[in-house]
Amino acid sequence: MSDPPVAGIDVGGTFVKWVLLGDGAERVDDGVRRLPGDGVFEAVADLGAELVGRGARAVGVGVAGLVVWPEGEFVWGPHVPGRSVPYRRRLSDTLGVPAVVDNDANLAALAELRLGAARGHRHALMLTFGTGIGAGMVVDRQIFRGRNFAGEVGHMVLDPDGPLCACGRRGCWETFVSGSRLDQLAAELADRAPDGALARLVGADRPEGRHLTAAAAAGDPAARAALAEVGGWLGRGVANLVAIFDPEVVVIGGAAAQAGDHLLDPARKVVGQVLQGAEYRPDLPMVPAVFGPLAGAVGAAILATETLL
Ligand SMILES: [Zn+2]
Repeated sequence: MSDPPVAGIDVGGTFVKWVLLGDGAERVDDGVRRLPGDGVFEAVADLGAELVGRGARAVGVGVAGLVVWPEGEFVWGPHVPGRSVPYRRRLSDTLGVPAVVDNDANLAALAELRLGAARGHRHALMLTFGTGIGAGMVVDRQIFRGRNFAGEVGHMVLDPDGPLCACGRRGCWETFVSGSRLDQLAAELADRAPDGALARLVGADRPEGRHLTAAAAAGDPAARAALAEVGGWLGRGVANLVAIFDPEVVVIGGAAAQAGDHLLDPARKVVGQVLQGAEYRPDLPMVPAVFGPLAGAVGAAILATETLL
């Protein structure tokens, strides 16, 4: 007889994603729902209770923002409402099963490290592009947390005169590269060329990054140029991080991975151009994540299994 499942929940800026993992990390079920504008913790607690009702014997949660480890207090995040919310304590108290809470990008990195594109590596960098940028850094096969809050690489300032960021400063990396930025570029292109390839693909829908990807795949030069621009910014940020961490692999998740090589090839090229001593360094694979949008939730369930059971 197999063990009861473990639940993983990933709280982002807009959506909450969840999985139930069974024996051997086999995915029993998963889902996604839109978060309310406020009452986010209550929505997560309700979802946790539903999953416990479906047999989950432990719950792991990832939250986008600053999370104190291992206490699991969500201190603050630019995309998730609430301040100093003791997620772990409150969930453990209300769910009746053990709970563990970490930063969402750390958990996406854990999923890729254990079961995905970073498997077998000792040093790896995982970057997820959604509303902002999430990063998980694997150093010596461990998630590197610093004192607690390491990995907020989306807020490296690449241009002090750049666009305003959700964090209140200007020119952070994630204002140039994120799922939101791809959506914004798609909207701009649809406005600029109402009879163009992208506008035809969008039709009556809201322009999104996926339309850029589809238009680029169909050969549209404007869409390819937009993806190349974002890819260039991706490459600049990755080169900075590689100069610091020298990982064996860079795993790219979220919207940037979905955009594929029309975005990743320009990024690889820019890394080769701007990384210090690039020609003397071994090849740096920059590869799409295996888990896609569920990486954080899968990692949350893995963390719960590893730390609680
Ligand atoms: Zn910022």
